[in-house]
Amino acid sequence: MKNQEWLLQISKLTGLPYYQQHTIFGDKSGTLIGLSDGFVVAVGLGKGNGGHAAIKILLRYAKASDSGAVHQALGHAKGKCKLATDQTTATLVQTYSFAKPDAADFTEKVRELLTALKTAALPISGKCEECGRAEQQIVLLNDVPAYYCPSCQVQLTQKLDVAAVAYENLETNLLLGLVYGMVAALLGSIAWGGVAYLLQRIFLWGAIGIGLLVGKAVVKGTGKVTWAARIMSGVLTAASVGFGDSIFYALTVMKENQLAFATALRLVMTNFWKLESDSDGGLLSIVFALIGAGVTMYGTRKPAFKARFIPLGTPAATLSSVAAN
Ligand SMILES: [Zn+2]
Repeated sequence: MKNQEWLLQISKLTGLPYYQQHTIFGDKSGTLIGLSDGFVVAVGLGKGNGGHAAIKILLRYAKASDSGAVHQALGHAKGKCKLATDQTTATLVQTYSFAKPDAADFTEKVRELLTALKTAALPISGKCEECGRAEQQIVLLNDVPAYYCPSCQVQLTQKLDVAAVAYENLETNLLLGLVYGMVAALLGSIAWGGVAYLLQRIFLWGAIGIGLLVGKAVVKGTGKVTWAARIMSGVLTAASVGFGDSIFYALTVMKENQLAFATALRLVMTNFWKLESDSDGGLLSIVFALIGAGVTMYGTRKPAFKARFIPLGTPAATLSSVAAN
């Protein structure tokens, strides 16, 4: 069944309005967004872990709710869905392989989730989530359906503008970033070399993992994300994998020639490029190191200080009105 048709069916069965123009879960077929039993509910299609086709459900409740209790209550009702909760939002992701679940079954599932939610969470219907004033319209705040009154929208926008300026003005401590980054890179090398030696193989994910660790450490040291910090993270990641290879070679040389580790390492370091280019694994790990460095530089983005409010607009009522869009 076509995505739009399926969503329209769910819309009819659940009473949740269908907005083809809002693609908050990634799929262009749009999203159902509405209120059910006082909770904000959104349903749409998107991608689960590993790029699997998935159905996503968002359930939003009042801040005053006990999120631990919410997690527990939904945990009993979630079935095959993956569940994540925070202070105000539960996200459920159900992957599927061939066909989407039957519309009636899925509607029943949503109903069960809401019944479970009611036992643990407080509703947010008709009230601004910030100040509690009456507010009838759901808006999208950075793609999350929420209740936000006009004056709180202005306040949040201003607050984030101030935060963005404050972040720009932060001092950058490159030296501390370098120290933190080098410690992380060294730990990464030891892990890379050790795992390669013990398992006799290398893992692409290892390079990306080292990259993430180094990037995090550098940013923690520098205090903010700058181009210098990004480049430092990338270079340290590549160096970490390269030195990890040296540790691997040194461990091998040490065992084969009964040498001390330091002697073996010195031997390896002086012949590093020859060793690295002579072995298949060596070239491969340079590629991995560069991928890791690239992911790191791309991944250490500046935090976003932007509140984007979008009104919901008019829902689509029938399939022909969907097709006309
Ligand atoms: Zn408000």
